[in-house]
Amino acid sequence: MLFSSVIALVSCGGSVKQEEGFNYIDERFADIQMLRYNVEGFDELSLQQKTFIYHLQEAALWGRDILFDQNGRYNLELRRMMEKLYQEYQGDRESTDFKAFETYLKRLWFSSGMHHHYGSEKFVPEFSKEWFAAETGCSEEILNVLFNPEVMPKRVNQAQGEDLVLTSASNYYQGVTQAEAEAYYARVKAEGDQQHPVMHGMNSTLVKSADGVIYEDRWTTNGKYGKSLTKVVENLKLARPFAEDAKQQEVIDLLVSYYETGDLHTFDQYTIAWVENTDPLVDFVNGFTESYGDPLGMKASWESIVNFKDLAATKRAEQLSANAQWFEVNSPVAPEFKKEEVKGVSAKVIRAAILGGDLYPSTAIGINLPNSNWVRAEHGSKSVTIANLTQAYAESSKGNGMLKEFVYGAEEEELVKQYGAFTDDLHTDLHECLGHGSGKLLPGVDPEALKAYGSTIEEARADLFALYYIADDKMVELGLLPNADAYKACYIGQMQNGLLTQIVRIKLGDQIEEAHMRNRALIAYWALENGKGRAADGKDVMEMVNRDGKTYVRINDYAALRTLFGELLAEIQRIKSTGDFEAARDLVETYAVKIDYDLHKEVLDRYANLDIAPYKGFINPVYTAHKDTDGNITDVTVSYTEGYAEQMLRYSKDYSLE
Ligand code: ZN
Repeated sequence: MLFSSVIALVSCGGSVKQEEGFNYIDERFADIQMLRYNVEGFDELSLQQKTFIYHLQEAALWGRDILFDQNGRYNLELRRMMEKLYQEYQGDRESTDFKAFETYLKRLWFSSGMHHHYGSEKFVPEFSKEWFAAETGCSEEILNVLFNPEVMPKRVNQAQGEDLVLTSASNYYQGVTQAEAEAYYARVKAEGDQQHPVMHGMNSTLVKSADGVIYEDRWTTNGKYGKSLTKVVENLKLARPFAEDAKQQEVIDLLVSYYETGDLHTFDQYTIAWVENTDPLVDFVNGFTESYGDPLGMKASWESIVNFKDLAATKRAEQLSANAQWFEVNSPVAPEFKKEEVKGVSAKVIRAAILGGDLYPSTAIGINLPNSNWVRAEHGSKSVTIANLTQAYAESSKGNGMLKEFVYGAEEEELVKQYGAFTDDLHTDLHECLGHGSGKLLPGVDPEALKAYGSTIEEARADLFALYYIADDKMVELGLLPNADAYKACYIGQMQNGLLTQIVRIKLGDQIEEAHMRNRALIAYWALENGKGRAADGKDVMEMVNRDGKTYVRINDYAALRTLFGELLAEIQRIKSTGDFEAARDLVETYAVKIDYDLHKEVLDRYANLDIAPYKGFINPVYTAHKDTDGNITDVTVSYTEGYAEQMLRYSKDYSLE
């Protein structure tokens, strides 16, 4: 998965066309800016396609409560209690306590829980404990969870040396230590199929019973999360008759069967059918998918996206896919780690129609699935860039002052203005379509060998692949870049983000924890250090320049920087292919975790002066089904007028079963 770099350098949307009058920007609270995305092209879809999307977006919204519970066992109770107070409060709604409470609730909605969606630290309530206790009459236990900073401080703890399971507040393990969980899954994996391993543990809570037995509480229509999953399944079944082809109906059948049984072999069959189903215009993801929320990287959070192809933009990505073999053969990676045959990298550009679960309101701008290594190796993967979301990011960040403040000089500013948006999109395509799909594990290497460092290394691998190739003559040759200088805009943006601007998302004194941020820091700091004295003229390839107390990133030799990216790509691929845990740990801990305190403070101060919200998320559009007297859908229309709180309250009312 690829997240938007929040710090969009881009001030003009070169590659996106703007629809007149669409309001991309909505309300702002805490560190969040709410945006809207435009589902352009929906009205032109056929009635069958619109109806299909309508039922699928219902299925997407029904999974919301699952994620709240996965993110922490008090989240649903807190949400219900707070929504009740929010709606029924008779006191002064302008009072300091109520205002602070309102912000807290908006943050809780945004994160699907009481921890920050990105940094994963627990929110600090700015309303008083006494006020909240008096208004809700809630228990001491709840007050302690809310107000005691020692209780459940992190959703996902990645601090080396601690018991990551016991110290993480995410709700994937009950009464189990990290050592017990690791031993349990080591045994399960050893007993399972080694050639085609299922995604062990991805759809269950690992529980230790009162008498000490460790077992998996599976998430199925009859098990845990059964009420929500039953509604998801109901809507998938309503969607099925409107699927675009027989293969897509088979995809739905397999998904339903998997939700009903929890059988992970069925899940693999479902992902294979899904990956092979590339023809339909409308497609969807619905299920337990990404494992970033589990400190051990196994348990998958529930998410959904419904989308349809953006036909014009898809051509660009298809050009990359058509040349996938050329890219694999010519990469700087050692031959033994390359795929002999790069299969089925299906690339496309999509427009999101709805976001649900872990993709809402904070979302990814690209998706690459499935996550199973052997399914990817044998059946390929689907890779998408979500055009209407990147468009919304680009449009909403125009003129926010970020570019002027942090870019080194006029030459760099001009490059970014001219090619920034364009190369950002291409970088995402390369990362998703080719980067994640390239390379192979050596036989017998455990796909989980890199453990907690696996996600960072995987993202670095995909990013380096993109950085290496965006500077290749092939880009101009294929008509994907207008000239041999355009890629420099991408280098400027990525290095500036990795070395400087991405840390505006982190509290002063904290370290980098999130995998995508670690990956960006890893690449940039590694290149900074390893490029010393390696520019063509003997200077440093890249340097941090201080001017009037402000730090800037200056790239002295773009070609040499590309060479460095190639070297690091080769090493990262070796680490991945051989499962070299020690090397992964050394790279990540050396370059990707620590932040220089003084630099951090300076960047935060400069950023604060710009007054930009560091995080963004999306309000969904609202779909209305128009029906005839027999209940058949005759049309589906889309509107963009629902407010943020209004939407959250409606979802809680219409898509929640106690
Ligand atoms: Zn990625």
